Amino acid sequence: MGTGEPSPLESVNAFFDEAADLIHLRDEMYAVLKTSYREIQVQVPVRMDNGDLSVFTGYRVQHNGARGPYKGGIRYHPAADLDEVRALASLMTWKTALVDIPFGGAKGGITVDPTDMSAHELETMTRRFTNAIGHVLGVNRDIPAPDVNTNAQVMAWMMDAYSAGHGYTPAIVTGKPLDLGGAPGREAATGRGVVYVLEAACKRWGVDLSTARVAIQGFGNVGSWVARALHEQHVRVVAVSDARGGIYRSDGLDVAALEDIATSRRSVVEVAGYDQITNDELIECDCDVLVPAALGDVITQRNADRVRATILLEAANHPTDTAGDKILNERGVRIVPDVLANAGGVTGSYFEWAQNIQQFKWKEGRFNDELRDVMTRSFDAVADFAESRRIPLRPAAFAIAIERVARASKMRGYI
Ligand code: GLU
Repeated sequence: MGTGEPSPLESVNAFFDEAADLIHLRDEMYAVLKTSYREIQVQVPVRMDNGDLSVFTGYRVQHNGARGPYKGGIRYHPAADLDEVRALASLMTWKTALVDIPFGGAKGGITVDPTDMSAHELETMTRRFTNAIGHVLGVNRDIPAPDVNTNAQVMAWMMDAYSAGHGYTPAIVTGKPLDLGGAPGREAATGRGVVYVLEAACKRWGVDLSTARVAIQGFGNVGSWVARALHEQHVRVVAVSDARGGIYRSDGLDVAALEDIATSRRSVVEVAGYDQITNDELIECDCDVLVPAALGDVITQRNADRVRATILLEAANHPTDTAGDKILNERGVRIVPDVLANAGGVTGSYFEWAQNIQQFKWKEGRFNDELRDVMTRSFDAVADFAESRRIPLRPAAFAIAIERVARASKMRGYI
């Protein structure tokens, strides 16, 4: 983030303010919805493999629980500080409300670069962190999930650490391995959800997806599944990237050949036969649909006027800051906002949690059908609202969500 650019929290708050004005949110409710319910910061000391002690800082922020237990991922990243986690927790409140699943919003993180950590160090850190925040978690209280640099294995450790004190409790986290109560379909759910939303958008806007060229920034939990889901639909993916850089070919990449990259520690830049591009170049590359599926704040006033795509599909959380958003809107780029585009992940988490509680397992086909249904319905509701008010999708999505959370908060007696 360069000087003068808004912090993630300032940016999310500005999106909130715009939508709150649209629906004439009462001042008292505004004060309740704009702040977090609970924020905890914990110390996470870890004995590293070389004998040294590293002391990390972890966070769990519970933003609003009016509509259900707090819900949201845990990220391991050097930029995961209180400001960012707070912003992302509030986005989770709006996301769960928008797709109308019975959860509130939360987020957690540890300020750490996990890239070179061993499995043993990661496990020790995860267990320490889980124990430190365990008193605010609960199947009906707060349910973590994977996010940037965390995965099913991390969730298994969290579940094990929590279960040590509470008995076997698979529903305490979602995004688990299939052998521990994970739901077939959950791992792919964010990526598939992104593609279901894109299909609904193209149908409404009369865009022919079969000729569209899609560029995806990120090839992790989300980006690699977006690529695979597009490939299944025979949609051309022209660029992908990861932390080391990206690859581009205007007539499309061989997505099937890239699949094992996502599950190995290798990088897409090691795949021969394509033009090499940087992550910055990917944002500006020649494509029709741009899918940021990695970190936040990648589209700002620095580059928004050079985005060539006509549709921006926000698979990452908060990829566009307020200045970037304004520039793209002025240029007529259609933005499908994060709270809508990537809501397939938490919707899949809801399916997993509900199955854990019932001790029942759906087949993957049912999971995907239900997911498509939620994503398509949510897109249509946002697009209807946006068209009726002649506003972009982001303020429409926030307005629908804020109204729902405000109603629940009022009925619960928060104000
Ligand atoms: N980390 C994902 C998100 O940002 C999933 C959260 C969840 O499933 O609780 O939406």
